[in-house]
Amino acid sequence: MSMFKDVPVDVGVIYEGERIRKEDMHVELGGPKVKEKFELARVKKPEEIEDEKITIIGPDLKDMEEGKTYPFGILIEVAGPTLEPELEGVIERRIHAYCNYIEGFMHLNQRYDIWLRLGKKSFQKGLNSFQYVGKVLHRLFKSELPIIEKIQVTFITDPEKLKELYNEAVQIYEARDARARGLKDEEVDKFYGCILCQSFAPTHVCVITPQRYSNCGAISWFDGRAAANVDPKGPVFTVEKGDLLDPVKGEFSGVNDAVKKKSLGEIMRVWLYTAFGYPHTSCGCFEAVAFYIPEVDGFGIIHRGYRDIAVNGLGFSTLADSTAGGRQVDGFHGISIEYMRSPKFLQADGGWGRVVWLPKEVKERVKDFIPAELLDKVATEEEAKTIDELKTFLKEHNHPVVERWKEEIVAVEEAAPAEAKEEAAPMPVVTATTLPITAGGFKIILKDAKIYAKKVIVRSMKSEKSEKR
Ligand code: ZN
Repeated sequence: MSMFKDVPVDVGVIYEGERIRKEDMHVELGGPKVKEKFELARVKKPEEIEDEKITIIGPDLKDMEEGKTYPFGILIEVAGPTLEPELEGVIERRIHAYCNYIEGFMHLNQRYDIWLRLGKKSFQKGLNSFQYVGKVLHRLFKSELPIIEKIQVTFITDPEKLKELYNEAVQIYEARDARARGLKDEEVDKFYGCILCQSFAPTHVCVITPQRYSNCGAISWFDGRAAANVDPKGPVFTVEKGDLLDPVKGEFSGVNDAVKKKSLGEIMRVWLYTAFGYPHTSCGCFEAVAFYIPEVDGFGIIHRGYRDIAVNGLGFSTLADSTAGGRQVDGFHGISIEYMRSPKFLQADGGWGRVVWLPKEVKERVKDFIPAELLDKVATEEEAKTIDELKTFLKEHNHPVVERWKEEIVAVEEAAPAEAKEEAAPMPVVTATTLPITAGGFKIILKDAKIYAKKVIVRSMKSEKSEKR
């Protein structure tokens, strides 16, 4: 692009889906290894903005040590006569795409979860300063969203400054989310759709309703409306609700039509308020995964920031891989944190009455929205680390899912022949609707898998190598 002659690497849509592996990275910014990271967009008065100014607070790319991870923040401040604060969420979400247009520069996630990597090759080509990244952002924002007349960008890597701004950013996100609460899906006749994630998940269409935030947790219904108004042909668009086909599962004829069209016929139906049947597709940037645990007939939830394994023995990335990529996977559901605060949250499946486990950190964040009578019935990692511990906990606390077990046990006993009862049936050690396994250079995907084993041996690759010696 001639627009970027003064930037040492290429810039274009073709780089959008590019991943940078650990071995190929020069440095990493944000990501799971650091707590303080954020990106934030603010609408300001024109006199508060010095157009095209780029500020770097803390070490620049060239001052960073190869292979290291740094805390990181991006602050985008914009002004324009028709810009409203309602557009902040949508402007902020574009940072993801525009950073990814830069050759050898990868951006994942959003808000307080951002994770960026600069590739070695691009660093060697001369991409050694945030000045270049800032230039790209200036030009892309102004050319793609002409309502932005003035823009200044600040990159923060100084840990002290970052801590201060991070806390401010978190408060701004919370205020934004709170503003969007209260409106009901029944009270509007339009929803919004978002295909910003199609570069990574080609069949994914996010359906954003007042009571169902985008999977990434960064775009509310109000944000969607503001974006569709200023840029109706853009990646965020209006979805006519059409006829209400199922009020419990959340099926709307207009949503089905829009998703079918925008996924090029790949996804035909979507049920908005359930993780079963035709669940909403999962892109790759969802904040959490709701996963069905067949042993207790309930849902576990794990969020992106959770470093340990979930109660079923699987970590976030494994559970995320089981549902990501724009697929509809029965019982695996990529969601935003804000959706857990919605009365429509897994409505058709029993809502919070069906949730049995989640990390303490998330429980703390959403606890005001969990029905009071359920609050101490939902386990965290402190109460249950295994399925057995979870079962005991749920029984002791009389969680509503326990009622479901009784029905099931009766049914099983009636059906089972006498001799089968002698020996206790083995429990599956792994249960997954889609279970990807990588072996010998192949990726094998097991559908509806239940794996039984007499003994499970988990060995890290390192110990295997050292054994061979
Ligand atoms: Zn997404």
